[in-house]
Amino acid sequence: MKITNIVATCLYSPEINENASDSAQDTVIVEIHTDEGITGIGEVDAPPSVIKSYIDMPSSHDISMSVKKVVVGENPLDIERIWKKLYFRTMMAGRRGIGVNVIGAIDMALWDLAGKHYGEPVWRLLGGSQKEYALPYASLPTLQDPDDVQEKLLKRQVSFARSRGFKAMKFEELVNSRDRDIESVSLARETAGKDMDLMLDAYYCWPDFRTASIAIRDLEKFKPYFVETPLQVDDMEGLSKLSRTSNVRIASGELLTTAHEFVDLIDRGGVDIAQPDIGRVGGLSEARRIADYAGLRGVQVIPHCWKTGISISASLHFCLATSNCPYFEFLVKELAPSYLRLKLLKREPEPIDGKIQPPKLPGLGIELNYDVVEECKR
Ligand SMILES: [Mg+2]
Repeated sequence: MKITNIVATCLYSPEINENASDSAQDTVIVEIHTDEGITGIGEVDAPPSVIKSYIDMPSSHDISMSVKKVVVGENPLDIERIWKKLYFRTMMAGRRGIGVNVIGAIDMALWDLAGKHYGEPVWRLLGGSQKEYALPYASLPTLQDPDDVQEKLLKRQVSFARSRGFKAMKFEELVNSRDRDIESVSLARETAGKDMDLMLDAYYCWPDFRTASIAIRDLEKFKPYFVETPLQVDDMEGLSKLSRTSNVRIASGELLTTAHEFVDLIDRGGVDIAQPDIGRVGGLSEARRIADYAGLRGVQVIPHCWKTGISISASLHFCLATSNCPYFEFLVKELAPSYLRLKLLKREPEPIDGKIQPPKLPGLGIELNYDVVEECKR
């Protein structure tokens, strides 16, 4: 079997609010075609038109090669060979950032393709499921409303996720304002109940270690499962001090690319939970390397994902196959404001009573709705 083409398609929801904290408003899907008629589908959470340009660009020289030239003609089942070859032959502009995001989307598509070829779900190709079912945590969309409706909306979201059987949920309303943050987390905990694992996303709201440390101490009593991105992404020193001194698990990593950056986050940043975004970090292959390394260091891996059902399915397969992955981020369709999250897939693994059983369908187990692709293509 040989790869014949890679096609990147940029999709945009009918309405885009560029100030919203919602990266599922657009996407780029990457399809890998073969001479045997099997197609693999991947996706990445990065600016769609930049990813498409990067995939379509011509070669410049031997380590600034055209992605298509590197990949077309390869056997798509040689996933690791293609990863390494791409990384090396594009390293002048790639190596981190967008170049690795592109490798991630291609890698995701290759795992989907391999599953379809072998007639097996991706989790099995990754070494088999480590658990009876995977636990998605409901990631609640940010509320951008005035204070008076905040309480009502927050209660409605938390209650909805609870009613769907989710065992955990994440809440992203911290704003670095002591009283308000204590009040909203208290309300979330009260509505969620004692048994729920409640995650908090600080979304980089604290300017430095000391501010974050004082704020987290105030929130400790609500027993958060973790506090995500408390400090700036590259503040390894601050993360390290926070992880050493805090009684709450510290999580970070959503924006990082490659296992190299996670080695730094784990060793120097000392985090308790590594949060690779499967597409962005370099695909399932790279996320697995991170999970293995994290496992050796006693660190949990809980993948970040704020995208369509393609990336969510990739996170699910990763979670099933990874023993140190207790949860994965899950954007609940009924709560998500994203048209693409709601409509892009005709079929995807769905939670029942807050759990997802290992899917039996080959590959990622998804089917695109090409009417929506046509509608949102630009
Ligand atoms: Mg986040």
